[in-house]
Amino acid sequence: MKKVALSACLTGCSCRYDGKENLNRPLLEQLSSYEIIPFCPEDFCFGTPRPTMDLVDNGKTIEAISNKDGSTLSKPIVRYAKDFFEQHADIELFIGKDRSPSCAVKSGKVYNKEKNLLHTTGTGLMAKVALDLGIESWDSEEYLNHTS
Ligand code: SF4
Repeated sequence: MKKVALSACLTGCSCRYDGKENLNRPLLEQLSSYEIIPFCPEDFCFGTPRPTMDLVDNGKTIEAISNKDGSTLSKPIVRYAKDFFEQHADIELFIGKDRSPSCAVKSGKVYNKEKNLLHTTGTGLMAKVALDLGIESWDSEEYLNHTS
């Protein structure tokens, strides 16, 4: 069975920053021929519930910045992502939650250091690791529209 890495909140896991989920039944039906490997970097690294974060372009790189204290949260997320794909080297498809600073493939909000919105086509930090590994990657809404 082919394997898909899927944002855990889309499977019904209550791992969002506010302790809620984003269960997407049509998407799960669409993926019924896959073995689903769920992931949630933010729950693993920071627990649930947790403060929100945003993607910030500092002119050199794009970092995940805490909205609570302005600290940089990128490192543990990227570490989690690399470990995840090492453990699941046979993943063929990555589907991330739209607009998430960790999971969005091309729908993330990106701000500048002054917190002005630059664009809404950013890539979350875990999705970037998937893309860098050459894994076919989609935002969940686009994948559903594309395949149904
Ligand atoms: S979008 Fe990603 S990081 Fe956020 S709750 Fe869902 S799986 Fe976790």
